[in-house]
Parts: sequence; C-alpha cells; structure tokens
Amino acid sequence: MQDKVIYYETLHQGYGQYFEVEHVLFEQRTEQWHLSIFETKSLGRVMALNGAIQTTERDEFIYHEMLTHVPLLAHGQAKKVLIIGGGDGGILREVAKHRELTSITMVEIDASVIEMCQTYFPNHSAGAFDDPRLNLTIQDGLEFVRQCNEQFDVIISDCTDPVGPGEVLFSSEFYQNCQRLLAPNGIFVAQNGVPFLQPDEISNTVRRMHSYVTDCTFYMTAVPTYIGGNMAFVWATDNQMAKSVSLDELQLRFTRAGLATRFYTPALHQASFALPAYIQQAVASA
Ligand code: SAM
Repeated sequence: MQDKVIYYETLHQGYGQYFEVEHVLFEQRTEQWHLSIFETKSLGRVMALNGAIQTTERDEFIYHEMLTHVPLLAHGQAKKVLIIGGGDGGILREVAKHRELTSITMVEIDASVIEMCQTYFPNHSAGAFDDPRLNLTIQDGLEFVRQCNEQFDVIISDCTDPVGPGEVLFSSEFYQNCQRLLAPNGIFVAQNGVPFLQPDEISNTVRRMHSYVTDCTFYMTAVPTYIGGNMAFVWATDNQMAKSVSLDELQLRFTRAGLATRFYTPALHQASFALPAYIQQAVASA
C-alpha cells in the first residue's frame, strides 16, 4: 500500500493542521508565492500560499459571505466597492451579487493566483471576473491606494497574513490611504487573523488605525480552515451608526437585495459584533 501524502500547514509554530492529499493539482513558484493547489477528501480543493492555507472549497462560503455582506448591508447605499487581494475570486463573487453596485475595483498582486483559481476553483468566482462592472488591476495594494484618488463606499481587504507581500496591507500607511479613499459613511473591513493564535494582530491594527477613524472594532466568526478559534475581521468607519443598524432594517435590506447565502443571516451579522472579554480588553488597551 502506498504511503499517504500529507500536507502540513506551516503558519503557526508548534501547532497546526494537516491534510491527506488525494492529488496535487498545481504546485509552482509564481510571481510572488509558492502556490499549491491540491485535492483532499476532507475539505475538497485547498489552496496554500507559502505554506499557509488560504481557502478550501468546503468552507470558503463562510469567510467570503461574512467579509462581504456585513459591510455592504450595514452601509445600505453602497455603489462603489474596492477589493484588495482576493485572487481566488470568492469575495468578488459575493460582491457581484449586489446588483445596486455600479463599480467594483479589484487589486491583486499576483495574476497567477487569479488564473489558477479560475482553473481549479471555478465556483469561487462563479463567472464574476466577467462582470462588466469589474475593473481589475494587477498591482501591490499599498501602491494602488497611494496613487488612487477615487472614493469608495466599501473597501474590503482580503489579504494574506502579515508576512511577505501581505505585510504592507496591515501597515499604518495602508490604513491611512484607505481612510482617505472612503466616501462619507464608507466602511473598511479586512481579515485580521485568528486572535487566539495571533493576538498581536488585534492590538497592532487598533493602534495603527486609531488616529484615522472614529470607530475601529472587530466582528468575528468561526471558519474551520483558519484554525484556533474565531477569526476576526477589522471594521473601521467614521459612520458610527453602521454597526448598530436594527435587525429589522438588516432583514429588509437583505430581502431587498435578493441575496442567496449559505452562512450569512442578518441575525448572525448582528451577533458577530459581540466580542469575547479578552478581545475587548485587547482593543481597549491597544
Ligand atoms: N482568506 C485568506 C486568508 O485569510 O488566509 C486570504 C485569501 S487570499 C485570496 C489573499 C490574496 O491577497 C492572495 O490572492 C494574494 O496574492 C493577495 N495579496 C497578498 N498581498 C497583496 C498585496 N500586497 N497587494 C495585493 N494583493 C495581495
């Protein structure tokens, strides 16, 4: 009998997850990454960049729906969205479901991630790269926001962890520029790691964001692929009302938008802003 091929994630020191690999579908050095895509029985197809698991077929909907519909439905009148990163296309697919949007700008650093994910994860983007509202740019996200002078209602940073090419997307300069690009009442959200294993990410973000926005907090949800407990999403806006839209109003916006979701519900949206005490303390003491 052949030995099983095992893929060990290398994101956290001394703690991790592994996958039994059915087949390796793609494994290559791209412009920025060591990109691996493989088939597993447990979570379907899996993509890793430099040894860190990015997305899996089975649970991607949780992350993508929560990172997209929470800011868009909280805003309620968004027309223009900027996505930074997101090469697998999952955020784009969810953003494109919002028919009221007039433009979607996406800035991804590595064209190969987009190309390979369209090949091996066709359901992530589900055709959204052909959406006529999309302006796609292959560029570093920090460079893009430095040079950009457009205004956006919602900015979503679907980035890798703060090491390597993704590190700049957690910098003060990036946050300051995103704040400058937000239209009045605009909302910025970003994946901010799993605080139980990456506690510094909460305090670093609050400290770096603090002088630029009035309301900087987090909402959370459990995504099985991102091990170690609930994942945190940073929420930054000058619109202090956006976080506390009533359940009835969220339900109305959700129904009006005609969204089909598998994870997001207005009640989960509201509940996701309830933070455990240790996160509240990390935010308060940052
Ligand atoms: N959901 C994942 C997670 O939490 O691990 C991340 C998703 S993955 C799609 C992140 C994307 O960000 C990748 O496609 C990567 O190429 C892109 N990216 C990383 N650094 C970037 C940068 N500086 N500018 C633009 N895109 C970047």
